[in-house]
Amino acid sequence: MPIQLFVPSFRIEECLAAIRECLEKGWTGLGFKTVEFENAWKTYAELPHAHFLSSNTVGLHLALHILKSRFGWADEDEVITTPFTFVSTNHVILHSNLRPVFADIDDFLCLDPSSVSARITSRTRAVIFVGVGGNTAQYDKIVDLCRERRLRLVLDAAHMAGTRVEGRHVGPEADAAVFSFQAVKNLPTADSGMLCFKDPEDDERARKLSWLGINKDTYSRTAAHGPYKWMYDVEEVGFKYHGNSIMASIGLVQLKWLDQDNSYRRQLAAWYRARLAGHDSVRAVEVAPSCESATHLFQVRVDRRDAVMLALNGHEVYPGVHYRDNTEYRMYSYASGSCPNAARASRDVISLPLHMNLTRNDVNMVSDLLVRYTK
Ligand SMILES: *Cc1c(COP(=O)(O)O)cnc(C)c1O
Repeated sequence: MPIQLFVPSFRIEECLAAIRECLEKGWTGLGFKTVEFENAWKTYAELPHAHFLSSNTVGLHLALHILKSRFGWADEDEVITTPFTFVSTNHVILHSNLRPVFADIDDFLCLDPSSVSARITSRTRAVIFVGVGGNTAQYDKIVDLCRERRLRLVLDAAHMAGTRVEGRHVGPEADAAVFSFQAVKNLPTADSGMLCFKDPEDDERARKLSWLGINKDTYSRTAAHGPYKWMYDVEEVGFKYHGNSIMASIGLVQLKWLDQDNSYRRQLAAWYRARLAGHDSVRAVEVAPSCESATHLFQVRVDRRDAVMLALNGHEVYPGVHYRDNTEYRMYSYASGSCPNAARASRDVISLPLHMNLTRNDVNMVSDLLVRYTK
């Protein structure tokens, strides 16, 4: 049996029953299960607001769009970001007519506070922090830095569903925290995400803007049974970004298993660490001491990475790479060479298989192959 990087696990019967409820009720769109899921997520993550959307990417865009207009940022104002991420994080800065300024990463593969600090200018307005693999890394220092320098903070929490620090879920400290429930994330639906603002007005604005600027959602209008349901107002140009009840149905079921799944992920990571201990040719990326990571990824760094990947493929083991330094992409090449740590990680990082179907034997087998081919 081949060993894949990610295999999402769905509680199929439960998911189907929840979807059936939507179909029977004749309500698959915005409202109904989307509201239920938002409430369940707020309770789970202890966040004051949560708005369910069709993806994390659109949530990040909406976050910047709303913060930009609330604080009156100009086009081409700067957002400090990491080159070591999925391109969504950086594309949304451009979608908002802002400028991505890349800071370098630390040994956790996340933004290095000292590099961020060095790249602040008079035009810097915000920082986007990505908790790679679920790790908080030096996030606490970034939070402090943003407070001191009066910068807005957006947390790309795509890998952080279930990440806690000293028992508290991440998110409330950021101006906006955005989670992903994409097909292979820790809480897989098919495609969806959650935008969690700190400020109630931003949350309200997000609700309007995620449905084209219309000021009331269909469900609350129907629920009110009032006449003139079509008499809504449109106050500004919005987007078609809201989530739907089919995705929310799956999300509600998956949420019940998230903590249990994440603790098995941490178990798998602990087995990898134990098996790889003492082998200097495979350097495991550490997790910050205070962080109970969602452990979306288990990453190691090796020399001759591409050859090692091919050798593992020869044994039907298929790891992944997260990420290529975004400044290697043509469209971000204006910043090429500005982040040497990210450039190095881009060449030597591997994400090992990590999902619910793996056993301790699988972990040992993959670890032993890694050790063999990196000698
Ligand atoms: C998956 C991912 C995204 C995008 O999430 P979608 O829900 O697919 O839009 C953004 N940032 C990071 C770091 C991701 O891994």
